[in-house]
Amino acid sequence: MDAAIGRSGGAKYDCLLFDLDDTLYPLSSGLNLACRKNIEEFMLQQLQIEEGEVPRMCLDLYREYGTTMAGLKALGYEFDNDEFHAYVHGRLPYDLLTHDLVLRNLLLSMPQRKIIFTNADRAHAAQVLNRLGLEDCFEGIICFETLNPPHNLDDEAEEVLNCMSSTPTAADDLRTVLPKQALEAKATDLTVTSLIGPPKSPILCKPSVKATEAAIRIANVDPKKTIFFDDSARNIASGKAAGLHTVIVGSSVLVPGADHALSSIHNIKEALPEIWEGEEGQQLEQFMQSNTVETVVLA
Ligand SMILES: [Mg+2]
Repeated sequence: MDAAIGRSGGAKYDCLLFDLDDTLYPLSSGLNLACRKNIEEFMLQQLQIEEGEVPRMCLDLYREYGTTMAGLKALGYEFDNDEFHAYVHGRLPYDLLTHDLVLRNLLLSMPQRKIIFTNADRAHAAQVLNRLGLEDCFEGIICFETLNPPHNLDDEAEEVLNCMSSTPTAADDLRTVLPKQALEAKATDLTVTSLIGPPKSPILCKPSVKATEAAIRIANVDPKKTIFFDDSARNIASGKAAGLHTVIVGSSVLVPGADHALSSIHNIKEALPEIWEGEEGQQLEQFMQSNTVETVVLA
C-alpha cells in the first residue's frame, strides 16, 4: 500500500476520476496513432498548413496546449469545433478496441462514484466506452463540450468563463497592448513568444489547472477524497496542483505529482487495494458508530 494514500485514511475516497484515451485502453491499441494522422490531415487539408510543418507543429501544439486543437485556436486558426471532432474522431478505426471484461468487472466492483474526465468530445467518449463495453460503468462524462459549451453565454458558459478568469499577469497586460497582428503571430515567432509566452487558447482543457478545477466543481467532488487517473504526466501534475490524489497510467515509473504509477489500468487492484478496503473500513466504522449510539441509548 502506498503510504501517502494510506495516510489519508478512513473511508478515504468518494470518487474516481478517469481520463479516457490511453488510460482505459493501452496506447498500443493504435487509436492514438490514427488520431494523430487525422489531426495532421485536418491541418494540411482544412487549414492549408504547409506539409513539412505539420508533424512538428502538431506535436509542439499538443505539448504546449494539451491538445493540438487548443493550440491551433490559440494561434488564431478558425474552424468549427464539431467539424474538427468529426474529422479527427469520426473517422477513427474504433474496431481496434474490444470489450474489456476485466476492467468492466474491476470498475463495477469499486464502491466509489466513477466519472470520465477527457479532453475529447462526447461522441468520441461514447464510442470508446461502447467499444470497451464500459458504457454503463460511469456516472457521467466531463468532456470537451462540458468545459467548452457552444457559443451563447448561458449560465453554464458564464460559469466556465468565470472559472477561466484569473488574476492578470504581466504577460496578460502585455497581450492587451500588443497589436492584433502580433497576437496572431505563430508559435515560431520567438520575438513575441519570448516576450509574453505563447498565446492563451480559447479552449479550456487539461492540463490547465483551471480545467481540472472546473471538472472538480462540475463533478461536485472533494479533491482530497478523489483519485485521478491519467496517462499524461502534465495532466497528473495539474491534477495534483488541484488537490487530487493522482495515478499515472501506462507507466511503471512515478512522474512529478503522481502518488502511484500503473503500467496498466488492469493492475489497479494490486496497486490501490484501498479503493476496495475503504468501503469495508467505512462499513466497519458505520457499524461501530451505530453500535456506539445503540449502547448510549440502551444505557
Ligand atoms: Mg489520455
